[in-house]
Amino acid sequence: MNSEPTAAKITKSESQWREQLTPEQFRVTRAHGTERAFTGPHWDEKRAGAYSCVCCGAPLFASQTKFDSGTGWPSFYAPATKEAVSEHEDRGMFMRRTEVRCARCDAHLGHVFPDGPAPSGLRYCMNGTALSFDPSDR
Ligand SMILES: [Zn+2]
Repeated sequence: MNSEPTAAKITKSESQWREQLTPEQFRVTRAHGTERAFTGPHWDEKRAGAYSCVCCGAPLFASQTKFDSGTGWPSFYAPATKEAVSEHEDRGMFMRRTEVRCARCDAHLGHVFPDGPAPSGLRYCMNGTALSFDPSDR
């Protein structure tokens, strides 16, 4: 890993995102939606590969950190790099949660909870809709 400066932010208008994304992808990533458990892509994906942002293609998670959380959402104990995601306090719905976004384009990805497995103890609970998967053994 080198110390390349953080990639330039990607900013697009709502209509540009609507044009690029499916309605469900738009709802989750740009309107802070949550897919229903066990309905989105990738929660049951077990192949090796890389997960990237469905909006901007930034690499976000690697299959090595994916674990079976039983929640019906793809879950990881760490992002691909610390700089790949940004975390924001989310006080909606009378709960304090930490929202996780793509650091490059601000796509809403999901939330991180402090009940994950070793080594981090964190559980990045992601909407599969926000991620595209690229298997490494094609
Ligand atoms: Zn992105």
